Amino acid sequence: MSRILPADARGIRAAARALAEGRLVAFPTETVYGLGAIVTDDRAIARIFLAKRRPHHNPLIAHAADRSMAAGFAWLDERAERLAEAFWPGPLTLVLPLKNGVPVSPMVTAGLSTVGVRVPAHPVARRLVEETGLPVAAPSANRSGRVSPTTAAHVARDLGETVDWILDAGPCSVGVESTIVDLSEPERARLLRPGGIPRERIEALIGPLEGAASGGPVRSPGLLGRHYAPRRPLRLEAQRVAGDEALLAFGPEPLAGARVTLNLSPRGDLVEAAANLFAMLRRLDEADVRAIAVMPIPREGLGEAINDRLRRAALPAEPVA
Ligand code: AMP
Ligand code: MG
Repeated sequence: MSRILPADARGIRAAARALAEGRLVAFPTETVYGLGAIVTDDRAIARIFLAKRRPHHNPLIAHAADRSMAAGFAWLDERAERLAEAFWPGPLTLVLPLKNGVPVSPMVTAGLSTVGVRVPAHPVARRLVEETGLPVAAPSANRSGRVSPTTAAHVARDLGETVDWILDAGPCSVGVESTIVDLSEPERARLLRPGGIPRERIEALIGPLEGAASGGPVRSPGLLGRHYAPRRPLRLEAQRVAGDEALLAFGPEPLAGARVTLNLSPRGDLVEAAANLFAMLRRLDEADVRAIAVMPIPREGLGEAINDRLRRAALPAEPVA
């Protein structure tokens, strides 16, 4: 098994050394657990794609310790500065022009002239990147397309031997991935993925966000089709539930009749629901049921990200290219 280390000062120092030696280290962020490698280390970055079986056209997010580390490899315009000021450290990724001549592995950017950057808020993630002294690429520490990990045990179960170290700091507080805003074009701002910072809060600072462009060289995760998927079929907007189904409920009045029920938030709180989403999907997926039914979840605030993950988790499996 990969080694699970407590995320104390010693564990973080050991993990930073392991990253510097080109090893893969899984670590907690406030969104989900990430699978980290230093962005300049081509071989380690290649191992991330192998471990996750991630398609190479899907770029990685570079995690910086602070804004000045981010500005070392990406151009932040006035809009980016404003969003960074408001939401970094935190679950917001900005897609920005990559500076010329910086040694970021082309696999991190999928060969593009832009780079996705964020400063994570989790103290372990920040300390780790700080100690490493270089940006750390860290997609979710799970097999590509499957449910994201929100505990160290999820990572160990999904990736096993392919990850060298796992820093364990308990469950993630936000529970869904970062919001991704593409600011690489000066005239437009696009929401590539709803996430931990609600769209409304971003639009209040820089105006309306456009949707992701379809076509184009980059396929944002929203366009990748089935993702975040459990093994059992997922049925959304359930108004009834059958006796051979599991129920993912929301709110004070869960539907009756399911074989097993977990409630994302009995008091109807979307922040609590986001934090529970992936762990509950995993637990229901392990139950002896035909399918998982999901009750309707409001779309405002964090609800946009929750509904986005569920929608993609419910898409039919595509043939593997
Ligand atoms: P994750 O799968 O959580 O690691 O998020 C990675 C996602 O960030 C990718 O699937 C892209 O949608 C987005 N992303 C990262 N870098 C870029 C980039 N340079 N251009 C466009 N999107 C990017
Ligand atoms: Mg992921």
